[in-house]
Amino acid sequence: MKIREVLKMARRKLSESGVENSGLDAELLLAHALSLDRLRLLVNDEAQLSVEETACFEKLLDLRCGHVPVAYITGHKEFFGLDISVGPGVLIPRPETEFAVEESLRVTKNLKKPRAVDLCCGSGAIAVAVAVNHPNAIVFASDISEIAGKYTKDNARKHHVENRVFFIKGDLWRPFEEKNLGQFDLIVSNPPYIPEDEMGNLPEDIKKEPEIALNGGMDGLDYYKRIISKAPQFLKSGGHIILEIGWNQAAVVRDLLKANDFKEIKVIKDYAGYDRVVSAIRV
Ligand code: GLN
Repeated sequence: MKIREVLKMARRKLSESGVENSGLDAELLLAHALSLDRLRLLVNDEAQLSVEETACFEKLLDLRCGHVPVAYITGHKEFFGLDISVGPGVLIPRPETEFAVEESLRVTKNLKKPRAVDLCCGSGAIAVAVAVNHPNAIVFASDISEIAGKYTKDNARKHHVENRVFFIKGDLWRPFEEKNLGQFDLIVSNPPYIPEDEMGNLPEDIKKEPEIALNGGMDGLDYYKRIISKAPQFLKSGGHIILEIGWNQAAVVRDLLKANDFKEIKVIKDYAGYDRVVSAIRV
């Protein structure tokens, strides 16, 4: 079959399986199967696929029809202009999270050698994006998951910041308490924040992502409470905390910050106009 025909068939199959962006996903997966970029694929759409290429593509297509996210199938996702390696076991970086990176860069811009912590780092997307864009930042990227460690280290190496991004395995602040790593200029985190009773209603694609990266406990706020209550201990006076939040969590996270010695609390909206990031300064 020709590329054009394969794409048409794939689009239909994906649609029938309830995949939303069937046209785009068909192109991304076929480009991946043929090791071409998407544009090349589209300008060569009269080319014939070999039997092997067709078989390889059909495997990918079946995975996607089973709602495995495209990024898990291709093994990477673009984030803040960087190609980030991902796979099952780490959350796929979202465009909304770029607001947390932007704010992190803004607040550390005038610091010569900022020391930052990225809690619940997952793939390491935030830590690596901050390190790449602030040439002297040192980022301690921490996560309880071993798989997160593997991806964070891979991504740091891939973007040549492995000498400034350090993976620390452990449960939130515990390794920082044990290792005595001193105080920081910035705490940034995209913790799990989905309320437990909403976990069952997530779209099929998101259900393929690790529950540990999404489930924020009964009210979705477990991690904010644990992060914020100890943050003053780990932040220098005048240091910043930057947290991604769910669309309806700004008020309560603001109250938590206020109650724990934070000032100048501001809320940043995402592309869709939802509250997405909270930023504050330690008194
Ligand atoms: N933004 C993610 C989602 O909507 C949630 C990420 C998180 O819990 N940190 O699926």
